[in-house]
Order: sequence, then C-alpha cells, then structure tokens
Amino acid sequence: MVVTFIGTGCGVPSQERSSPSILLSLDHEHILFDTGPGSIRALLRAGYTYNDIDHIFYTHFHVDHISDLAPFLFASKYPLAPREKDINIIGPPGIKEFWDRLHSLYGEQLIPSLYSINILTPEEFIPNGWKLKTAKLPHTEESIGYRIEKKGKVFVYSGDTGYSKELVKLGKGANALILECSFPKEVEGHLCPELAGRVARECNAKLLILTHLYPVMRKEEISIGVSKKFLGEFIVARDGMRIEI
Ligand SMILES: [Zn+2]
Ligand SMILES: [Zn+2]
Repeated sequence: MVVTFIGTGCGVPSQERSSPSILLSLDHEHILFDTGPGSIRALLRAGYTYNDIDHIFYTHFHVDHISDLAPFLFASKYPLAPREKDINIIGPPGIKEFWDRLHSLYGEQLIPSLYSINILTPEEFIPNGWKLKTAKLPHTEESIGYRIEKKGKVFVYSGDTGYSKELVKLGKGANALILECSFPKEVEGHLCPELAGRVARECNAKLLILTHLYPVMRKEEISIGVSKKFLGEFIVARDGMRIEI
C-alpha cells in the first residue's frame, strides 16, 4: 500500500496546502479519497492523471471535498488523452441524488462516450481482493470514514469528523490512521491535535497522520497537543508526501 497526499488543506485557500484529496495505491489499483477544489491539478503535480484513477470514494458532500468531481469528469473527455476505463464513484447515502443534480446541471459535459460511470454506495461496491469497511461519523448527516485492509495492512481515513466511538472502532490497529485535524482547539464536528492523539491512542494506531489542516495550524502546537495523548509515531501530512505502509 502506498498513500500519496494530494491535498492536505481544507476549503480555505493556502499557499502550502491544496484542498482535501488522498490517493491510495494498492498494487495496480488507484483509489482517490475526496476531490476538493484543485485536486485534479494537485494530482498531476504528484505524478498522476485522471486516467490513472480506478475508484473515487467520498466521505461527505461538503464543497471542499467533492467540488472537483465535475472537473475530473470533464477533463476525462479531453480528446487527446481521453479516459477509456470505467470509473466507480462511491459515496455515502445521497451520492446518487448528488450525481443526478450534477448531471442535470452540466449534462453532456460530464457524460463519457468511451467509458461508464458507476455511482455506488459502499455496500454496493465489490472490492477486488481487499476489504472495505465504513463508519458513520459525526460531522454532517451523511459523513462516513473508510477502512481498507489488504495483505494484513490497514489504511483508515476519517474524512471530516469529531471524536466518536465509531471512529475508534474503525481505526483499531491501523497501520496508517489518517485523521483530520482542523483547528488548534476542539470545534464541534472536527478534531484538534489532542483529540486526534486520543483517537490514535485508543485505536492503538501504528502510525498517525494528520491532514485537513486550516491555515491557523502550527506544527509545533500540533506536536504538543498530540503528544499529550499519544506517544506513538505521528506525522503532519504535506502535499505530495508519499508513505508506504
Ligand atoms: Zn472539510
Ligand atoms: Zn466537511
């Protein structure tokens, strides 16, 4: 498993951090989690194009996580480098309604002639040789987090969330526990360094990686907060960072 951090920021523009998007590479399968504004360009900067992606998983429908879906599909129609393989777009309940609305807004601009778009809930998606689990998390009505297991390695991505027992259960024993860490102090529906550290400790995570950082976040403060609750290894993600797990 290789994780590439495409965007480690939030919805507020930042010179350093693009909006949320994470790429998980499993052997020859590329899974993109969330596509915030600017993700298709950030993906290119990390060495990948829209043609490399097999599945896109969404955690929720906030603009900073899903807005590049339309540009992704629009770019996929570029005649000189058209996408030719099918794509699965997976999201929480409501993803089909979201797609219907997007489709009625943009019509043919998004509709491929060379491949198919499959809009699925996680329950409808059938992984090829790996395990997928989700958990409902406290952020929006639909918010979910994802856990992927392959060959004994566990990847967990929270999306946006506050603290919850479901999150701890989802993250149990993760080799890479990727948590949002929005603000220095607790704000409802988000994690702060101390809470992220608490979740990592309760999960017994092998490695904690923090992402979805607002521009107010300072690395030193994050380290102090996390260390109060978690003594294991942790990293503050950077755009373009790649980790093998
Ligand atoms: Zn967000
Ligand atoms: Zn959100």
